[in-house]
Amino acid sequence: MAGGVLLDMDGVIYHGSELIDGASELIHELLDREIPFRFLTNNSQRNRRDIATKLQRFGLPIEEKHVYTCAMATARFLARQKPGGTAFVIGEGGLMTALHHNGFSIVDKDPDYVVVGEGRMLSFEQLETALRMILAGARLIATNMDPNCPTERGLRPGCGATVAMLEAASGMKAFSVGKPSPVMLSDACRDLGLPLEQVVMVGDTMATDILGAVQLGLRSILVLTGSTRIEDLTQFAYKPDVVVDSIAKIDLELLENLWAVEADGLARELQTGVA
Ligand SMILES: [Mg+2]
Repeated sequence: MAGGVLLDMDGVIYHGSELIDGASELIHELLDREIPFRFLTNNSQRNRRDIATKLQRFGLPIEEKHVYTCAMATARFLARQKPGGTAFVIGEGGLMTALHHNGFSIVDKDPDYVVVGEGRMLSFEQLETALRMILAGARLIATNMDPNCPTERGLRPGCGATVAMLEAASGMKAFSVGKPSPVMLSDACRDLGLPLEQVVMVGDTMATDILGAVQLGLRSILVLTGSTRIEDLTQFAYKPDVVVDSIAKIDLELLENLWAVEADGLARELQTGVA
């Protein structure tokens, strides 16, 4: 049975500026066999073209259509909630572009929503403005709740950290669209044009990639090249269908086995040992 694949990027395909062994081979195989796939990212800073370019620089023949960001998911979600709405944005180009593409206007006064994404230009003044807007009735939307993000020098505070500050100050709870939210994952499946049971999610982070897949009923593969070690798995009440050392261990046979599993949890039988 044919299906599709959703791939997290950082910790799965690359680390910083290093491509992970096996990533190129798998991507070429998916392209050669015309298996639909999307790269999913919880980073709302860049737009899909920027991300496609980054992947092309790793030598991967990736097009814009292969990229799906939480900024796109957020903008599409808001366009369904309030067509032609307005937003005050704490974030950068990727988020602004996605909102504009989906019919939203970016405003500095009386917005329908305060939308928070990643960025390096955050100021206390912006937070103060956003807080007043929320208290005046604007709804708080997070592109994702990742507390921090990996960089080449270590971690930096993530979107979730900024949102937590606004939640604490306002007493309001944000609605988050990025992974693990089923809003983003189901939208990405729709983008692939496939039913949920024919989509496999590949990720390195239990709390986003794998949790989102489990909640939505997607098959999932955890790779151990990123944020999760095999001994960490005991801390979670859910688990992926398959655990592999790295993307180099993912081939068409493994994917076909997962696509073929009935939707009743029998995927456990496919659990592979980690070498
Ligand atoms: Mg990752």
